[in-house]
Formats: sequence, C-alpha cells, structure tokens
Amino acid sequence: MSLESALKEHFGFDAFKGMQREVIESLMAGKDTFAIMPTGGGKSLCYQLPALMKPGTAIIISPLIALMKNQVDSIRSYGSEDNIAHFLNSSLNKTEITQVKEDVVNGNTKMLYLAPESLNKAENLEFLKSVTISFVAVDEAHCISEWGHDFRPEYRRIKEMIKGIDQTIPVMALTATATPKVQSDIQKNLGMTDAAVYKASFNRPNLFYEVRSKSDPVKQLIRFIKENEGKSGIIYCLSRKKVEEIASTLQVNGIKALPYHAGFDANTRSRHQDNFLMEDVDVIVATIAFGMGIDKPDVRFVIHYDMPKSLEGYYQETGRAGRDGGEGKCIAFYDYKDIEKLEKFMHNKPVAEQEVGRQLLEEVVSYAETAISRRKFLLNYFGEEWDENNGEGANMDDNSVRPKEAIEFKDNMTTLFTMIDTVKQRFKSKHIVNILCGMNTSEASTYRHNKLPSFGIGKAVDPKLWMAAVRQALVQGYLYKDIENYGLLKISEKGRAFMENPPSSFVIYKDHDYSAEIEKGGEVLTNARSGGAVMDEQLMGLLKDLRKKISKEKNVPPFVVFQDPSLHDMANQYPISIDELKNIQGVGNGKALKFGKPFVELITKYVDENGIERPQDMVVKSVVNKSGRKVYIIQSIDRKIPLEDIAKAKGMQFDELLEELEHIVDSGTRVNIDYYIDDVVDEDRLDEVYEYFMEADSPDIDDALEELGNDDYTTEELRLIRIKFMSEVAN
Ligand code: ADP
Ligand code: MG
Repeated sequence: MSLESALKEHFGFDAFKGMQREVIESLMAGKDTFAIMPTGGGKSLCYQLPALMKPGTAIIISPLIALMKNQVDSIRSYGSEDNIAHFLNSSLNKTEITQVKEDVVNGNTKMLYLAPESLNKAENLEFLKSVTISFVAVDEAHCISEWGHDFRPEYRRIKEMIKGIDQTIPVMALTATATPKVQSDIQKNLGMTDAAVYKASFNRPNLFYEVRSKSDPVKQLIRFIKENEGKSGIIYCLSRKKVEEIASTLQVNGIKALPYHAGFDANTRSRHQDNFLMEDVDVIVATIAFGMGIDKPDVRFVIHYDMPKSLEGYYQETGRAGRDGGEGKCIAFYDYKDIEKLEKFMHNKPVAEQEVGRQLLEEVVSYAETAISRRKFLLNYFGEEWDENNGEGANMDDNSVRPKEAIEFKDNMTTLFTMIDTVKQRFKSKHIVNILCGMNTSEASTYRHNKLPSFGIGKAVDPKLWMAAVRQALVQGYLYKDIENYGLLKISEKGRAFMENPPSSFVIYKDHDYSAEIEKGGEVLTNARSGGAVMDEQLMGLLKDLRKKISKEKNVPPFVVFQDPSLHDMANQYPISIDELKNIQGVGNGKALKFGKPFVELITKYVDENGIERPQDMVVKSVVNKSGRKVYIIQSIDRKIPLEDIAKAKGMQFDELLEELEHIVDSGTRVNIDYYIDDVVDEDRLDEVYEYFMEADSPDIDDALEELGNDDYTTEELRLIRIKFMSEVAN
C-alpha cells in the first residue's frame, strides 16, 4: 500500500503536511530519523503511520502521562480497535498491565506509549525483549538535553535501555524546539549521530515580537488588553503567586480573566481551560504549566509579564499565538532585575546546572536588549538563517519598525575578532569585552591577559557597545558559540573573510537600555500619558459646579457627593460610563450609582465638544492584600462584632481599622456601625456632630475638631460619627 493511501485509510487525510512524507519514508527504510518541526506541525503522525504499517509494536516515549493519554485517545478516535494503542505507566493497576501486555504479545497493539521511568523498570525491559519492536520514537526529545527548556534526567538513560532491548531497532527523535546545541546533545545521547535530520523552518511570519521596559507593567497590561477587547490572550508569569495576583487585578479592572497554574486541582484547571477555549473568558494568566496540549487557534496575544528562563521556553510559549495564521502579538516585559532574581534562585543548584542556567539567561538578556530584528535573533538562535529584508515576516517586530541609530564599527570589529584570536578562541563574550576594555578582573590576571599588549585596546568604546557588537556578530554569523563548550566565542569562516578583507563599512546598533527607560517611567507610557496627565482645569471647574448643584438638590454638603481627589481624577481620566467611573479614585459601586450619572453625562458631552483624546488606560485598581481584609471588616460589622474585636482579629490598631473604614465609606460602600456608636457616643453629641457635617465645607476631621471645640470631642469619636454620616448620607 502506498503511503498516501495508508494516510487516507488510517487518518482520512489527503496529503502529507510539511516534511511528514520524507520523515516517514526515512523511518520506513529503517534509518535513525530526527524530525524537528514546530508545534502543530504534525509530528505524531510521523511515528503513528509507520507504526501502523510496520510489523511489531512501536515504543513511543513521551514525558507526561497526560500527553500520553491524549495521544492514545486520539489514535483510538480514528476508529481503530481500542487495543491498537496502549500506554504503560504508573497510573495503571495490575490487571490493566496484564491486559496491555497480552495485547502486545498477541500483536494487536501497534503503539505502546511509555514514560522513560517505565523503561527503566527491569520487568518491563524483560517483557519488551520478548516481543517484536518495530522502532522506538522519542517524542519531546529536547528533554534529553540540559540545554533544552525542559530537561528530564530520566531521558538520559533511554539509549541504554533501547540498546538493552535490541541493538538494531531504528530510533526516531521528535521535538519542536532545538538549538544547534540541543540538537547535537539529542543525537549524541540517543546514539544517532548519523541520523537523517529533517528540520522544518521555525519561522512564524504572522507573529509580531516586541519587548517593553517593565515600568508600570500592570498599567501597560491593562491598557493593552482593553485596546484589544474581546480578543483571546495568554499572560505568562513565573510564579503562582504572581499569576493569582495579576488575574485578580485584571478581574477588578473589568477584564474577563482567570488564573491557571499547577497548584490548582485538576477540576479547577480543566474548568479554567474550558472557559478559555469556549471564550467565556478572554485572558488566561498562567505559569508555563498552561499550554501543553491546548490548541486554541485564535490566541491573539501572548504576553510575558516576567521574562522566561530560556529563549526556547519563550519561543514555545509565544508559539501559542496566532496558530490560525492570523494576528499574534508577542510582548515581553523586561527588567534586568528579574534576571538577577532568577539567577539568585539557582544558587542552591549543582554548579554545572547553574552554569547552564546562567548561559540560557544570558541569551534571554541578549534577545531583550538587542536592537536588531527580533525574528532574526530568534531564528538564528535555532540555527536558522533568515534575511531581515526579504524574509517572510520582515518588519514584524519592534526593532524593525523603529530602528535604532546605526554606528560605524568596521575597525572595531577587526579589533574584536583579533582579540578573540589572541586568546585562542577559548573565552566567552564577557571576558573578551572585559579585556578589550582593560578591566582587571580575576580571570584576566589568572590567564595573564592583563599583560597582553592589546589589553585595554578598546577602552574608548563603551563596554555595552562591545557587547552589542558581539551579539550582532553572532547573529550575522561572523562568530559562533562552540557546541561542545557552549559559550566560547569562535570565529567563523565568514569572520575570517572579514578580517582578511574588511568591508568598506560595517554598522552596528546600540542595544536598548531598558533600565534607563524604567527609571524615567517608560517610553511607552510617557508618550501615551502626555494626552492627559495634567488635570483639565476647565473640566474641573465644570465638575465642581455640577457637584454644587447636586449637593443643593440633595441637600447635602458637596464632599458627600464626591470628594476633591475624585473630581481631580475625573478631570484627568475622562470617564464616560458608570463602569469607567468606578475606576476613579474614591468612587466605589455605591457612589457611582448614586451620584455618577450626571457626572458621566457632563464628561461625555465635554469630551465630544472639545474633541478630547482620552487616555486609554484607566486608573488601575489594585487588589491590595487588604481587599480580603475589607471584606472581612464589612462582614463582621454586618454581624455586629465590636470594632475592637475586629481590629484584634486582623492584627490592626484601632486607628488602622478606622482608616480602613474611612476608605470603605469614602468609596461608596455603606456600613452600619450604629450598634457600636450607640454604646460609645452620647446621643446629643452624635446629633451635634452629624449636623455639623451636614453644614460643613469640608469632610476634614481637624476642621471639625476646631469648630466643635477641642476639649469636648476626641478625634476617634469624630471619626466614628463621620463614618456613620458618610455611610448614610453619601452612599
Ligand atoms: P505536533 O506534535 O507536531 O505539535 P500533532 O502531531 O499534535 O503536532 O498534530 C497537529 C495537528 O495536525 C493534529 O490535529 C493532526 O491531526 C493534524 N495533522 C497531522 N498531519 C496532518 C495531515 N497530513 N493533514 C492534515 N492534518 C494533519
Ligand atoms: Mg507532539
């Protein structure tokens, strides 16, 4: 039977996708085969079809039990007999294991999925030796390499096990990410250095890459999501805590978002995932636990709130955007401080692992700071050449859209290459830059590089610029990093040609300096803010007039309607709906509903008539840790618990409790503390203070004290009464 008809018969597909045919032919011919194809490229079929066609059972090694189960379910769904595919792992009981083995022995099972741990078990090995194996496929093969983003030590022993079963069975490896370093690790480790390698392009031309300085990231995030309302997106954070925090912040800011991380139980996780797939929520905030095996074609943005630990991880995660070929924005928030934090976390790991981790982080930093096309940088990282002028996806990243100033660097390039040669191509970029700049580091003196005649020859140039030059030389192929000793800079043939016969001009681009941007508040933000950072005096005047009018109508003092800071904020943010109004400082739900309507009407009219461009980012409401506390306080007051006890239960001073209560009522929530006030304040005094506030010009306690006479009232008393007053009259 031809491959095509087998494809049609078993899977119902009319044609092979990408390199599937070549890969399958290679395996069918009994060759070791290595397939590197992007996620969604159809790797599974590359072993499923041969497994169905070849005599015997194929062993498929896969890292996750969940993935295995999905795979097996999906093969069975093609209408074959259920025992055509099985998995053997720790989730099965004895009876089930016996059944699986029986099916394999009888030749019914064409695919047996195994976790590498199971392959290590002596009883399983003995069993596999006794049956006919068609080939072994190692899926997610990057797990073999500690330079991959998902290293699993158990993967290291796969070769030993396979050889233990049979020296001659063909081996297939499959992965969706492999840098040249990881690729070489995989081949060596599986003993398949002369495998036929099929590598598809990793380029995703429809994705747009951008790195932003991590200044006021929550605000940037909310603004971006609001500008992209109704679109699906994923936000990645590194910690579970951050995931939950960001998800709640998005929720209180009116965004339909849910958190997802491995700390939730399976039910919650699958519910949140379904909500996302069914578009009940727009945004999932997740750790990297989210995404494996999810296949939503129209994810329109992937935002890395925290920088990932490696570019491979980054590429996998961004790869979940725009699977349908439509829009896919990939934005990463970068702050070098985050990188330092990640480095700190590695301190208690074995030294070798730390070294790997640091190098991977260094690549992340290079990516973030580089001023060259991000697509070019990423593809180069995966060993692919790409032309930034004519390649598919040109001009689809921030650096290409907003190029930085070019600096002539021809002579310096020669100096750089010569220095790399002088130290025999045995050092990493940092050291090279250090000795170029004449830095007396311990490494420089250990190797006596501080005695070199050319030590410090490049002092006049900023070390950062040297570093940028190294990165650009790497991406353009003048330099490369040694595969065996990852990170050591070597000069390529192209680099040699440059040294012998330098071009007439060679320009480089200065890297981004995000820390400076973060200090001045962020480029992106300042631009957007210039529209409305200063208060609109004219509008403020109108708002005050309106407040006066309303206060007369309702016969309450103006501050009861809205306090000054709220009006200021309105004259800055221009809220034009009740929902937006709720985002204004000191305006809660109750207040917005009670007094809001005429205000938003006035602002809407004002915005229209004056052609105001409103800042798209509303004030970000934060879920301070206090919000749980607020809820507790409100509930306790409902249950008439004495205020002292509430304070005690939450570890607060009485003062702090009053402050919290003031916040609560000032933003429009009603609380009834009569049960408490009646006990501690005399009725006449209560009436006197109440009346005072009714007539007062300001809600200020000090003013009240003065007016009412310092001796008679305590601050505490006045505050309590004011809380009652605001609650009853203003809310
Ligand atoms: P990968 O493992 O490379 O991420 P999968 O093996 O999960 O990708 O396949 C992705 C999708 O592509 C699956 O839905 C699969 O059914 C589909 N697919 C694979 N091969 C073909 C083909 N030749 N024609 C059409 N669809 C295919
Ligand atoms: Mg796969």
